[in-house]
Amino acid sequence: MNQISQRIAALSPSATLAMSQKSAELKAAGVDVINMSVGEPDFDTPDFIKEAAKKAIDDNFSRYTPVAGYLSLRKAIAGKLLRENHIEFAPEQIVVGNGAKQELCNVLLATINPGDEVIIPVPAWVSYVEMVKLAEGVTVEVYAGVEQDFKITPEQLEKAITPKTRMIMLNSPSNPTGSIYSHDELKALADVLAKYPDIIILADEIYEHINFVGEVHSISEFENVRDRVVIINGVSKAYAMTGWRIGYMAGPLPIAKAVTKLQGQYTSGASSIAQKAAEAAYEGSLDCVEEMRKAFERRRNLIVSLAKEIPGWTVNEPQGAFYLFPEVKSFIGKRDGDRVINTSGDYVMYLLEVAHVACVDGAAFCAPGYMRLSYATSDDNIREAMRRIKEASERLK
Ligand code: PMP
Ligand code: GLU
Repeated sequence: MNQISQRIAALSPSATLAMSQKSAELKAAGVDVINMSVGEPDFDTPDFIKEAAKKAIDDNFSRYTPVAGYLSLRKAIAGKLLRENHIEFAPEQIVVGNGAKQELCNVLLATINPGDEVIIPVPAWVSYVEMVKLAEGVTVEVYAGVEQDFKITPEQLEKAITPKTRMIMLNSPSNPTGSIYSHDELKALADVLAKYPDIIILADEIYEHINFVGEVHSISEFENVRDRVVIINGVSKAYAMTGWRIGYMAGPLPIAKAVTKLQGQYTSGASSIAQKAAEAAYEGSLDCVEEMRKAFERRRNLIVSLAKEIPGWTVNEPQGAFYLFPEVKSFIGKRDGDRVINTSGDYVMYLLEVAHVACVDGAAFCAPGYMRLSYATSDDNIREAMRRIKEASERLK
């Protein structure tokens, strides 16, 4: 039986998860692969959060949860948004789900009609385009390469807007580039969007705490667009809780209600135990987050300094998240024996098979000619991976 819907047949599998799987398979077969493909913190979840989960089990938090999430968790998230982001949300405007991924997809499904245009500044995280496809929207990609630090300008944004535009997906700090829009850059984008009241701003702020600039700004700070910003965030990255699957959306009440309706027919409320763990995270101190952030900053400095020694790479200095996104176009047309590099994807496969380092082709992020490395791994792994990449790259003539 091979009856697969057109909707799913047209969907691409997640390239980040696929590459991670491939690298795990090679490892299982005995190959010493360094995995810099998937983006997830390599730290353990902090103990006080794990304790809260254990207590939730003992206290019998074992039944169905409210579809939008426990009220106590939504109040804790509202507290976080007020304390850290200075924005007031009622708990009714917040919906908790199975990771930021589900909430991003829910918001798209709840707001986008077939043919509606969604602006995506690219390079962008692998799932954005596919989620828009699922919602039967039309993606409008706005490209910003390394020469503009991967950030779109207000002029580029204005040019991409048409009467059919219904949403822009903004991700700062960005996966895959690590770029962060400054206060003034965000204000300039907000000033453009203020002229178009029908556009929802989906602000994915999942990496906000992993930044090397002190303070990350949110487009929701600007009064002229605030009432149509939907914030996406969660515990995966900041608290090293990728497997717990808790993320949320916070935005206009009608959108929160629509997302709740969808979730009620589709997944129900997220795991009771994981929600109690997330509540402890949001009510606890940010010390554990700061400790991990410092490690990421040290690794950013290390990988950028080593990347500059690889001939043929052009890199920016990522200001957040835990990715490096070098431009590798100079290898196109080069060869090592019989092996010819025709695309950045060929280069990434060459690095996997020859250097045993797993990365992800930039094409998966709508930016062929680039590749992504996740430096959420030990300093030793970073050093060894970069040594191997340099050696293999130097063999390409
Ligand atoms: N947005 C971005 C930009 C991400 O990199 C990720 C991580 N995969 C997510 C959302 C989803 O995070 P979560 O684990 O909470 O689903
Ligand atoms: N954010 C991670 C990445 O980009 C997780 C994998 C995924 O969900 O795509 O690698």
